[in-house]
Amino acid sequence: MQVLNWSRSLAGMALAGVMALGGFAAALAQDIPFTAWRDGFASDLRSEGVRADIVASMLDGLEPDPRVIERDQTQPEFVRPMWQYLEGAVSEARVANGRRAAARIADTLQAVEDRFEVDRHILTGIWGLESAYGEIQGNFDIVRSLATLAWEGRRRGFAEAQLRAIAQMLERGYATRAELVGSWAGGMGQTQFIPATYMERAVDFDGDGRRDIWRNEGDALGSAANLLARAGWEFRQPVFTEVTLPDGFDFAGWTETQRRDVAHWAAQGIRPKGGEWSSDDLYRSARLVIPAGANAPAFLVYRNFEALLRYNNSTAYALGVAYLARAFEHGDAGMATGWPVDNPPISRSQSRELQEALARLGHDPGGVDGMIGPNTRRAIRAFQSATGRTPDGYAGLSLYNAVMEADRAR
Ligand code: CA
Repeated sequence: MQVLNWSRSLAGMALAGVMALGGFAAALAQDIPFTAWRDGFASDLRSEGVRADIVASMLDGLEPDPRVIERDQTQPEFVRPMWQYLEGAVSEARVANGRRAAARIADTLQAVEDRFEVDRHILTGIWGLESAYGEIQGNFDIVRSLATLAWEGRRRGFAEAQLRAIAQMLERGYATRAELVGSWAGGMGQTQFIPATYMERAVDFDGDGRRDIWRNEGDALGSAANLLARAGWEFRQPVFTEVTLPDGFDFAGWTETQRRDVAHWAAQGIRPKGGEWSSDDLYRSARLVIPAGANAPAFLVYRNFEALLRYNNSTAYALGVAYLARAFEHGDAGMATGWPVDNPPISRSQSRELQEALARLGHDPGGVDGMIGPNTRRAIRAFQSATGRTPDGYAGLSLYNAVMEADRAR
């Protein structure tokens, strides 16, 4: 999954390490009729030992869903700026609704927090972003959605793995066929777990024999808590700190994947915005994330941030959950300010032009796909260094204009 996939809908899916939404490759032609894929896969499932009545309940008479193909092949042209995503994620309405929802199930939240040692405000934030506190779970028949994706072929391996997980869910009686509704891409219930994640991480919190992430808040939030606990959640520890970089910060020596103690970053002059480090902070392991360039907010992110990425591999999502949690806990999210609103991220077609121009200028972006990934960011930084700019790797409008001008002058 792209690191910069800020355009994901707020009702995203829990992917838990399964990188489902990879680069939007060219649309694949369906090379066989749907019925041929369907009957072949049904035969595969039976030969793998899935009960014939389960296979029949999943696939008999099933037709492809054209809406799913359309959504899978529609690549949004505009990349939503992170500040717009965060504004929507941490809206007044979402905070107010979250407070009400958390109060309604306060005892359950407390019990989930006690059992898994995952902070309740974080769980409420996930609940809010995934399904608007259970209100918006999607109404696609996910067996049909996933069968359509499997037949379409671009994500066949992913989709067939999810269908195999569904067969297990049905065999074990965790859910009924009629309950298998969710998003067009297979996210289910209040936590928007995909089926494989459900099989690995969902729990029967109330002990009634079913893992009901659709209607039972304890099962849903317990499942989210279990996922985070298994991803290394550190109870009552922070997710991130917004920081101030010193004048003359060595951008050329920085990469987003470097992980060091806060003491290391402090020695480079990095400070919490408007404050100082406490001695507790200094031994915490952290990465420096600068999502919108040198003239924009910067963040040190901790283990808990990485756990949230296991839920949904998006920097904007992890920040959104953490800001929501702060709003619930402290009454104020303390949102970062000073975003470069006059220098937004460039569109997909501009990204393709940028990649082509960077390649002509001798900075290989690793292919032309309109997606700004690590290779393109490396090429941007090489261009920025070679032309005396701050090498922050941010694909904003001003960088785009500078590269186009250099390409014309070549
Ligand atoms: Ca249950």
